[in-house]
Amino acid sequence: MYTGDQGTDVFVIGGGPAGLAAAIAARRKGFSVTVADGAAPPIDKACGEGMMPETRAALRELGVALPADAGYRFRGIQFVQDGVQVAADFPEGWGIGIRRTLLHECMIEEAEKRGVKLLWKTPVTGIASGGVQLSGGLVSARWIIGADGSGSRVRRWSGLSARVLNSQRMASRRHYRVRPRTEYMEIYWGPSAQAYVTPISNEEVCIVVLSETAEHGDFERALGSLPELEVRLAGAELRGRERGAITAMQSLAKVWRGNVALLGDASGGVDAITGEGLRIAFRQAFALAEAMACGDLREYERAHRELTRRPMCMGKLMLWLGRNAGMRGRALRMLGRNPELFARFVAIHAGKATPVDVVRAGAEAGWQFLAA
Ligand SMILES: Cc1cc2nc3c(=O)[nH]c(=O)nc-3n(C[C@H](O)[C@H](O)[C@H](O)COP(=O)(O)OP(=O)(O)OC[C@H]3O[C@@H](n4cnc5c(N)ncnc54)[C@H](O)[C@@H]3O)c2cc1C
Repeated sequence: MYTGDQGTDVFVIGGGPAGLAAAIAARRKGFSVTVADGAAPPIDKACGEGMMPETRAALRELGVALPADAGYRFRGIQFVQDGVQVAADFPEGWGIGIRRTLLHECMIEEAEKRGVKLLWKTPVTGIASGGVQLSGGLVSARWIIGADGSGSRVRRWSGLSARVLNSQRMASRRHYRVRPRTEYMEIYWGPSAQAYVTPISNEEVCIVVLSETAEHGDFERALGSLPELEVRLAGAELRGRERGAITAMQSLAKVWRGNVALLGDASGGVDAITGEGLRIAFRQAFALAEAMACGDLREYERAHRELTRRPMCMGKLMLWLGRNAGMRGRALRMLGRNPELFARFVAIHAGKATPVDVVRAGAEAGWQFLAA
């Protein structure tokens, strides 16, 4: 248990991926950093466990190394519905599927190496302008970072809760012992649910089921509405326990106040189907460290808004596809006939397209759609 005030430049509340990334980025700027988390590592959580090439790049920049034999590389994204399959490679590099707990361990290793002070099983019970309240007393801090996840109490404590909620969906995650079918992260589209399948080793996949309602989001029920996936999983061994979560598209009016800044899911987020949560959190960590080094969090606010813009658009598009079965069927058939157009959308998703490319791809998709 933490006793007495040893003080720190930066106190990070929450030691998930966002909090650890923030801690590492702040240490790289020379700050002394303490992280407290109420749980003990390695911390598991419902997650699709897929990292896009850009997420991997951000992780590398943080200095976090993954074991060479860890996870499973995937080369792009594939949509599957009613016998139609359309796939495209990422324009550059590859993604990786990796167990959430292993990612957590690797991030902890780098944080420790950098000299971050890590306090596990240490819930934070409140904040004051001068520091953070633990059961063992107040720790004074120049900067306080709320990286305490989507249900953030720091957000409430600091009066930053005013938010725009675009959508909220139910999610469940399972692991199955089965050989990956493809080298792609697959998204299966059903009438009221989607499932995305991330290969995480030669013999295991992580599956997340997403739906607007708890009823349709029930894993077994959703699987029943996705026959291609159901057949594939018939008889496969279920590993570990199922985990549920709520995934939301939400943005905050403001992500900082005084010396408190929010980061990761605590600061808003995009629907899980985008597979972008980790990349956004890692990039926010760099932006926040930079802003703290300049002593001005306004720049963080600007960078934060910029980082979520594209994933928000993609998230809205995916939600729209999920809700409009007829249009989705047409769109998938059209993309099946024009795989290079799908590749352009994957490039946009990966952040490898210029605004002109986006407009051109949108116009061409509209034209092909009308012509279909
Ligand atoms: C179903 C699902 C699938 C997803 N799939 C993907 C994917 O494939 N790829 C991707 O990039 N992103 C994905 N995401 C998004 C990604 O998981 C999140 O963006 C990411 O976990 C955010 O990390 P975080 O550190 O902000 O929050 P969390 O991981 O929730 O961590 C918050 C931490 O704060 C701690 N905490 C809370 N309160 C306190 C307190 N008072 N004191 C101390 N500690 C506290 C908690 O114990 C926890 O460890 C998915 C999300 C969901 C829900």
